[in-house]
Amino acid sequence: MSDVRIDDLPVRDELRGKSPYGAPQLDVPVRLNTNENPYPLPEPLVERIAERVRDAARNLNRYPDRDAVELRTRLAEYLTDTSGHEVGLANVWAANGSNEVIQQLLQTFGGPGRTAIGFEPSYSMHGLISRGTGTGWISGPRNEDFTIDVAAAEKAIAEHRPDVVFVTTPNNPTGNAVPPQTVLALYEAAQAAKPSMVVVDEAYIEFSHGDSLLPLLDGRPNLVVSRTMSKAFGAAGLRLGYLAAHPAVVDAVQLVRLPYHLSAVTQATALAALEHTETLLGYVEQLKAERDRLVRELRATGYEVVESDANFVQFGRFEDSHTAWQKILDQGVLVRDNGIPGWLRVSAGTPEENDAFLDAVRALKKEQS
Ligand code: PMP
Repeated sequence: MSDVRIDDLPVRDELRGKSPYGAPQLDVPVRLNTNENPYPLPEPLVERIAERVRDAARNLNRYPDRDAVELRTRLAEYLTDTSGHEVGLANVWAANGSNEVIQQLLQTFGGPGRTAIGFEPSYSMHGLISRGTGTGWISGPRNEDFTIDVAAAEKAIAEHRPDVVFVTTPNNPTGNAVPPQTVLALYEAAQAAKPSMVVVDEAYIEFSHGDSLLPLLDGRPNLVVSRTMSKAFGAAGLRLGYLAAHPAVVDAVQLVRLPYHLSAVTQATALAALEHTETLLGYVEQLKAERDRLVRELRATGYEVVESDANFVQFGRFEDSHTAWQKILDQGVLVRDNGIPGWLRVSAGTPEENDAFLDAVRALKKEQS
């Protein structure tokens, strides 16, 4: 039995020889590799979650609210309050993490015989979920400084006529935000070419110096903004992602969602977290200050740093980034090697974790000079 491997099974051709997504989950003192929020949820929120989940448990013999109406209403209020752009229940859809939101979008608008494009390096799951849904993946270009080359991107869209266009802002792993004019230009190019859906992945937007692109949704039914509670809300373990778009998009994704996909426990937990938005956004302010400190200190130590609007920083350059990653790990600090030659990525942690990281990279710099 044990000598049967994946490729011995009749798996789909496009999955042959591929590896699953996975950042190493190593047991080291300082883990700054997956852009998590380092602050555990505050105790009053933990209590509130327990209370709400206890209530939900009394009804677990029943299926949950299939349309997650209360949760979507609260998410819409959160988006309206933080962006100043009016978002309603009909504009919002929620799923188990924004990865599932992206999967549902690709099941709806991509699929066999269709294609999606992203401008890489960017969030690798866009390509992987495309593959998983039978959508052809096109790797679009980026400039040397990791900004999007608008002319080259427009050209790629005109040439490939993709069905789905991904724009990640702030971008992961590089950290830089995409200017609204760029998103608008890509949207116009995508409409002229096909028309296609443009998905703006705003997983890290709460950490940005700039504003959300939610106001661009007005009059653009083929635009989607995707969000998550994994980062700013410090709730990666909850698995709650959501999108804002024209109500027709919300109707369309319901054609592919599994019935009752969002458990009653998930809905109850997310609702409790949304009651504590103000406290959680307070942590975001601390993380932004720490992110800015990381940028300053890395530069002062002689590293090159990409301007960051996220809760992580891409820094370099290394002759061999994997060796540098290992040396930082040897000092008890886990950062991320995304396979971008010369660069590594560090997530902003607590001040103490960031101090440990900065000590490690200062030591590395000394060793190399
Ligand atoms: N989009 C981006 C850009 C991300 O970096 C991540 C998580 N690393 C996600 C989406 C997925 O987040 P989740 O499924 O936890 O909501």
